[in-house]
Amino acid sequence: MFDIGRALWFKGVMKKIPVPYSEDFLTDYRTVDCENPERAWIIQSAIREIADFCEPSLCSRSDLLLCHTESLINSVEIDAEVYSVARRAAGGAIMAAEIALKQPSFALIRPPGHHAGRNFNGGFCFFNNMTIALYVLLSKGLIRNALIIDIDLHYGNGTEDIVKDNPQIMFRNIHAFQREEFLKKVESALSDATSYDIIGCSAGFDTYVHDWGGILLTDDYCEIARMITSANPHTFTILEGGYYISDLGKNVVSYLKGIQEACL
Ligand SMILES: [Zn+2]
Repeated sequence: MFDIGRALWFKGVMKKIPVPYSEDFLTDYRTVDCENPERAWIIQSAIREIADFCEPSLCSRSDLLLCHTESLINSVEIDAEVYSVARRAAGGAIMAAEIALKQPSFALIRPPGHHAGRNFNGGFCFFNNMTIALYVLLSKGLIRNALIIDIDLHYGNGTEDIVKDNPQIMFRNIHAFQREEFLKKVESALSDATSYDIIGCSAGFDTYVHDWGGILLTDDYCEIARMITSANPHTFTILEGGYYISDLGKNVVSYLKGIQEACL
C-alpha cells in the first residue's frame, strides 16, 4: 500500500525532530537495575534518522529551587554523579520546552522525574524535569499557562505535588486498563488544549503491551503523539519510564513519527 508519509520521509521532506540528548545520560549512576544506560543508548540508536540531537546544559541550582526544597536538593547532591546527570536531564527538559515555543521537541533524558515532588523523590527519579522546565518558562514570562499530560504507566505523584496549588498549570494523568480507553482519555484530556501556551507530555513507555503495563501497541504511541501535537503544536515531550529494552527504540520512533505526521 502506498504510504504518503513514508514517501515524503524518504524524499527528505519531513523535518527531523529536535531532541535534547547528552552522552551523560549513558552514565551508569547509582539507581535501580531496570533504569539503566542501555535505555538511553537503545533509543538514541533507533531514532538517529529522525532526530536532530542537541546537547543540553546542566540546569542551575536556582532552576531546581523553583520546584524543590533546599533539603531535597542537598540530599541528591551527596552523590556528585547523580547530581550532575540529574541536572543535565532537567536541562534537557528546559531546552525541549524552549524549543517547543517554536516547534515540537522530544527530550531523550534520564533519570526520569515525575515521581520527584517538592520535598521527596523516589521511583528512579531525583528532580522533576517536567515542572522545572515549565517553571523556568513561567519565571521568564515566556508562557502564561501550561498543560501537562502524563502517559506513563505510573501516576505522576511528584508532578502533582509540585503543581497542585498553581493555577497556571493543569496536570492530567492518563490511566486506563485497556488501550481504547487509554486513547480516549488522551483525546478528552486535550479537549481544551488550545487554551494553553504550551503542552508538556511526560512520556513513559512502560504502558507498552510487553512492558509492565501491558496496554499499548507500538502504533498507539504514534497516535498519541499525533493527537497531542495536532491539538497544540507548542508541545514538548520528555522521557519518563519504559523498561522493555527490546522494543523501546521502535516505540519512541513511533512516537516521533506521530509528531511528524501532525506537522505535515
Ligand atoms: Zn512508570
